[in-house]
Amino acid sequence: TRILLTGGSGFIAAHVLDILLEHGHSVVTTVRSQEKANKIKEAHPNVGKDKLDFAIVEDIAQEGAFDKAVVSEPAFETVIHTASPFHFNVTDVQKELLDPAIIGTTGILKSIKKSAPSVKRVVITSSFASIVSAAKGNAPGYVYSEEDWNPITHSEALKDPSSGYRASKTFAEKAAWEFVETEKPNFTLATMCPPLVLGPIVHYLNSLDALNTSNQRIRDIMQGKAKNEIAATGVYLWTDVRDLALAHVLAMEKPEAANKRFFVTAGHFTNKQIAQIIEKNFPQYKDVLPTESTPGGDFPEEGIYQYNNKRVTDVLGIKFKSLEESIVDTVRSLQAVGA
Ligand code: NDP
Repeated sequence: TRILLTGGSGFIAAHVLDILLEHGHSVVTTVRSQEKANKIKEAHPNVGKDKLDFAIVEDIAQEGAFDKAVVSEPAFETVIHTASPFHFNVTDVQKELLDPAIIGTTGILKSIKKSAPSVKRVVITSSFASIVSAAKGNAPGYVYSEEDWNPITHSEALKDPSSGYRASKTFAEKAAWEFVETEKPNFTLATMCPPLVLGPIVHYLNSLDALNTSNQRIRDIMQGKAKNEIAATGVYLWTDVRDLALAHVLAMEKPEAANKRFFVTAGHFTNKQIAQIIEKNFPQYKDVLPTESTPGGDFPEEGIYQYNNKRVTDVLGIKFKSLEESIVDTVRSLQAVGA
């Protein structure tokens, strides 16, 4: 299949790209600069231009940003849209988080409808952020599933960057489903809703300082930042990046994934468990790690929400990796960039 993958320089997209190539697909991936394209190309020296090519899309928040990228020869059959800002280093939530997420999503769908009628399936990387409700709190006993939508409003979104990020994912995914309903395009949609994504980074795009947001807590624990107090876990569900990447690819390959949301989660975790796994597998970090009596990083005393990931296992057949395997592989990948 011929696929357009957006945001190919991202943490998750790098794994999606690897699996697409393993499955024999032909991929054009968008990146923001030629320099990033070159790095990805160099990391896949034996892959020809027919299997891996690039399109430059500097800013997905611009109207029509994808008009050129969606057109290719041979024509695309699938689009996987992962590009969206995921960091909290913003001063203007509207411009830096909401606009690229929402306009990026509606923009690519409009471009596909207008100029790429051969596209039959679109897979979008949404998030547990579009499922979880801040008002529910720890919600012990509550079971989150694909039925749930984050009720966040636009004015709540503007309060702070983390609300802004959660709203950006919620509004973008809602806009995608609305587009399909009102515009009745040629394609069906599938959305991926993962919580915190952990797992190995590809070395050619990364440095320890410019690490993707979701792995930063592992780096921080390795660097001794949890020695005296472990940071609050925040979101208590996780998934491994390789399982999530495979879910993206299966959601494009399987007809039965059409018009479904997927809550892609392996289960619960805490920052304390991450520290314990690092200590067990990498004794060299013992001196900088917290001990059994270090405060923080545990589940809330009252308990925490539950999850239903049955659709992902039933429809996509994903078998989730364990937290231990994920953390061990992540630590090794961080060591490879100098941790
Ligand atoms: P990364 O920051 O590694 O990837 C984000 C990608 O989006 C990068 O390729 C980035 O390009 C691109 N991007 C961001 N803003 C723009 C823009 N304005 N114009 C063009 N490209 C842009 O993060 P992840 O891989 O973790 O995130 C990928 C997707 O997964 C996002 O949609 C995110 O919301 C979602 N997600 C991630 C989770 C996680 O825990 N990691 C959890 C749930 C969902 P560049 O690097 O060049 O700026």
